[in-house]
Amino acid sequence: MNINQYKVPEKAKIHLKDYATTYDGPLNKKEVKSKLLPENLNAMAELQDALYAENTRGIVVVLQAMDAAGKDGLIKHVFTALNPQGVTVTPFKVPNAEELDHDYLWRIARALPRRGEIAIFNRSHYEDVLVTRVHDLLKESPLPEELVDDNIWNRRFKEIRAFESYLNDNGFTVVKIFLHLSKDEQKERLMERITRPEKHWKFSSSDVNERAYWEDYQKAYEDLIAHTSTENSPWYIIPADRKWYARYAVSEIMLKLMKDMNPTYPELAEKEKENLAKWKKILEEE
Ligand code: AMP
Ligand code: MG
Repeated sequence: MNINQYKVPEKAKIHLKDYATTYDGPLNKKEVKSKLLPENLNAMAELQDALYAENTRGIVVVLQAMDAAGKDGLIKHVFTALNPQGVTVTPFKVPNAEELDHDYLWRIARALPRRGEIAIFNRSHYEDVLVTRVHDLLKESPLPEELVDDNIWNRRFKEIRAFESYLNDNGFTVVKIFLHLSKDEQKERLMERITRPEKHWKFSSSDVNERAYWEDYQKAYEDLIAHTSTENSPWYIIPADRKWYARYAVSEIMLKLMKDMNPTYPELAEKEKENLAKWKKILEEE
């Protein structure tokens, strides 16, 4: 798969309508699920092992999407192949009182990976230029009033670019994935949450209400993607109407990223190697 077709270049103008939500290429669901995806997951696990051992760099995976686009299932199917010791998953919900009492990047910073780790963000700081914008939530926020003006979104884009570039300069790569779902497919999936009892727990009436803001969300996404896709921290716009394809595409992105990082197992210093012989001898003579 040529994953670059989904990568958003820096300063691009984005019209989400120009981007496919459905994959209709030659790949076949059965082959992807039974062969291609498992192969990628194995390769990812091997690279993660080296990344963890190398212990110098980390990855942040930002997942953003409309409701029911498949973020949860994707995390389950793509990232569970990894060693849990080197992975963290953080879902970002409506900020709680303590979070609201801080700047918006505070809770994000607390969820960053250690060196060697991969941190998966199920929603992220991008909610603060998305739902916050669509629903004008800053009006009720504890931000000083004089700081809330028409320019705030552009300021936040700048802050986010700086934050991600800072992470990059410190050995942490940020990769951002937008699961691009059609409004029709969302309806189908919300319907399923209503009609299938085992999916009831996933149903939230707010998801139905949010559909009324569909166009506002799409516009907010277009703006944030256009302003924050950079060479080092790009956005990928992935067709998400077919879950199996979106999962496979994300595994391809991860694999390419990890291959490019080329993590290596640390080499023991000569002196340490000499010591190993000594320790071996001690054990043998026990
Ligand atoms: P879910 O991902 O279905 O568990 O829902 C989490 C909810 O939290 C979504 O409706 C998000 O829009 C909301 N949310 C996440 N971050 C923020 C934020 N910074 N401000 C307001 N709402 C948020
Ligand atoms: Mg939800």
